[in-house]
Amino acid sequence: MLSGPWKQKLIRYANTGTDYKLPMRTSLDLPRTILGRKITQRKNMNLSLSFQNKIKGEVIYDEMMSKYTSMRIGGPADVFVLPANLRDLQIILKHRGSCPILTIGEGTNLLVRDRGIRGIVISLKKCFKSIKQPVFYKSIEGEERALVKVDGGVKLSYLSKFVARYGLSGIENLVGVPGSVGGSVAMNAGAEGAEISQVLRSIKFLTLNGEIKTYSKSEMVFAYRKTMFPSKDGIVIEAELDLANGKISDIYLKMDKYLSRRGLTQPLNMPNSGSIFKNPDGEKAGHLIESAGLKGCQIGRASVSIKHANFIVNKGGALAEDVIQLIKHIQTVVEEKSGIKLEQEIIVI
Ligand SMILES: Cc1cc2nc3c(=O)[nH]c(=O)nc-3n(C[C@H](O)[C@H](O)[C@H](O)COP(=O)(O)OP(=O)(O)OC[C@H]3O[C@@H](n4cnc5c(N)ncnc54)[C@H](O)[C@@H]3O)c2cc1C
Repeated sequence: MLSGPWKQKLIRYANTGTDYKLPMRTSLDLPRTILGRKITQRKNMNLSLSFQNKIKGEVIYDEMMSKYTSMRIGGPADVFVLPANLRDLQIILKHRGSCPILTIGEGTNLLVRDRGIRGIVISLKKCFKSIKQPVFYKSIEGEERALVKVDGGVKLSYLSKFVARYGLSGIENLVGVPGSVGGSVAMNAGAEGAEISQVLRSIKFLTLNGEIKTYSKSEMVFAYRKTMFPSKDGIVIEAELDLANGKISDIYLKMDKYLSRRGLTQPLNMPNSGSIFKNPDGEKAGHLIESAGLKGCQIGRASVSIKHANFIVNKGGALAEDVIQLIKHIQTVVEEKSGIKLEQEIIVI
């Protein structure tokens, strides 16, 4: 558990909005028992400085992650980088030394702890934003189809609307998923009974050595809300989708239906991270939580949504610790009542 003053400090940061700059920590800020960590932090800073002047993008120290997560929660990242292009990414990887790296997209499936992230966080928020024109072809079965190459930083909702304009069908079910293409490939995002892996033809992956590798669909393993890449750590910089030709009006109609269903069933007006738990086989996590009487259950400023029980909402100033305690509480109560242990979908950093 967090100490009182630290908790108060975080609540203040969360409430003061996004411009608050966390002061650089000094040795006094750190308990003596983990002074070793401070030395590591210094080392990280020096390493990152060695790429700071070489890249076109932005490097920010002690950046609050709450600015970059849809839950609006998360302590400071030691080094936060917004690369401008592929070259920037390769320079960062080359000069990172032994620093751990975390790549994030739109931060819509993340819970970053209050103490933040030690190491370098790379955000694709300001790069990898292009979509190539579709290349139409006829399949062996004689079906009109198209291949679309899209960068990892493009928002899935934007991509769905972009391909709909060409009458391309296959991802209209994903129009309401608020993540990026890279994050959605990593998470094998899905909705309305379909997953992104079903339309994926290949991906371009930047390995931590700075090498670009192309993997075909058959070289990757997909599971429910999970993708196992051949080389686990790296960055999805491009995805190639194989889409079917459809009727534009039908595609728009489906997208409208899916979007309005979300509006009716999800707490979109409050900060959240989508579904907290995976649906167990043959069950809906939301249904199990609701049946356990947990709708509206609150710890600190984090609460089980009244609208959708598989969503936890930040009622303003919630801490990651509040959410973690609430997750544990839900798991315990649901297991007691139904015998089912809910598995987390969100990624806790
Ligand atoms: C309101 C709401 C509704 C949602 N509905 C759905 C839904 O219907 N279906 C669904 O599947 N999800 C849903 N989500 C969750 C989320 O949008 C998806 O999981 C999405 O795919 C995450 O993308 P992101 O860019 O936000 O990834 P992030 O949250 O930034 O990251 C998620 C994971 O992907 C990794 N990652 C991110 N970018 C890259 C990259 N370029 N290369 C390699 N790894 C990367 C991160 O390291 C992390 O492990 C919802 C979320 C919200 C807030």
